[in-house]
Amino acid sequence: MKLALVGIGKIAVDQHVPALAASPDWELSATVSRSGSVDGIPAYTDFATMLAERPDIGTISLCLPPQPRYPYAELALKAGRHVMLEKPPGQTLAEVHALERLAAEQGVSLYATWHSRMAEAVAPAKDWLKGKTVTRARITWREDVRKWHPGQDWVFEPGGMGVFDPGINALSILTEILPAPVHVTAADLEFPANRDTPIAARLHFSGNITADFDWRQEGPQTWDIEIDTDHGPCALRFGGNRFEVASREVAGEQTIMGEYPKLYARMADLVRAGQSEVDLAPMVHVADALTLGKRHVTDAFHF
Ligand code: NAP
Repeated sequence: MKLALVGIGKIAVDQHVPALAASPDWELSATVSRSGSVDGIPAYTDFATMLAERPDIGTISLCLPPQPRYPYAELALKAGRHVMLEKPPGQTLAEVHALERLAAEQGVSLYATWHSRMAEAVAPAKDWLKGKTVTRARITWREDVRKWHPGQDWVFEPGGMGVFDPGINALSILTEILPAPVHVTAADLEFPANRDTPIAARLHFSGNITADFDWRQEGPQTWDIEIDTDHGPCALRFGGNRFEVASREVAGEQTIMGEYPKLYARMADLVRAGQSEVDLAPMVHVADALTLGKRHVTDAFHF
């Protein structure tokens, strides 16, 4: 099946292009980007032109930041194309609800991806937790924004979500593996004096669950979810790629290279089955944290 990739930036180059090159389901048939391109693939700078000139391309994968994504998704759906959205699926919940309705009206597939849910150890952790009672959980998601988003000012602009851009990956795992849903009850948010989105956040959820997100961690990076249950403790580490039960590793491997091939395999299944998959649970937690969050102003941030 032919696919066009829109927004040839960091994640398109790091993950989407290699995943598509290795995919038995997809052929990368065009790119759309104001400045980026992929060797050997027809490159367009204008999205509407690509849609008009390439009716053979049935699926569009949008790798743009969340702020400009909605008009691209709307145009693609109105042109009768299937659409795959990078995470977070939009700037706001209402935007994504609108896309969901439009996809249904048009009879095409919409897939709001969550790459961290495809991490090696997420499914084993979900299986292990099934039927158990979670008595406490602690998320620690601390990374270096300069390493993962070098010079990307959009993360600090309205709609960019700030530290929730990585934090929502942890929340996508949490909402996938917990045997029962939880909700945010309080939040503390640290905004750099010169920016519009938080650089750190501490959240409290129902069910004795907390999250500590911080974008100022240099050196080793931390992506852990530690969970206590009525059957003892377990932990997901390395962004959901390793799973420990009672401190003994039982599943996983230390790589994220499997996540995007699994997303594209899922998209192929959805298109063939004529279905959509849009789960907004991780984004509801972010919206609630921003609604409930107490604002603290911290040092100005410069890349
Ligand atoms: P990026 O490199 O800053 O941007 C991707 C591309 O989008 C850019 O190359 C740019 O292409 C295009 N773009 C940016 N602003 C635009 C605008 N206002 N209008 C039209 N096009 C625009 O971002 P990224 O890191 O790849 O992230 C994109 C998405 O992937 C985000 O939602 C992010 O959460 C997600 N993601 C990122 C990572 C990561 O490691 N960075 C990991 C997983 C998921 P042109 O200027 O050439 O048009």
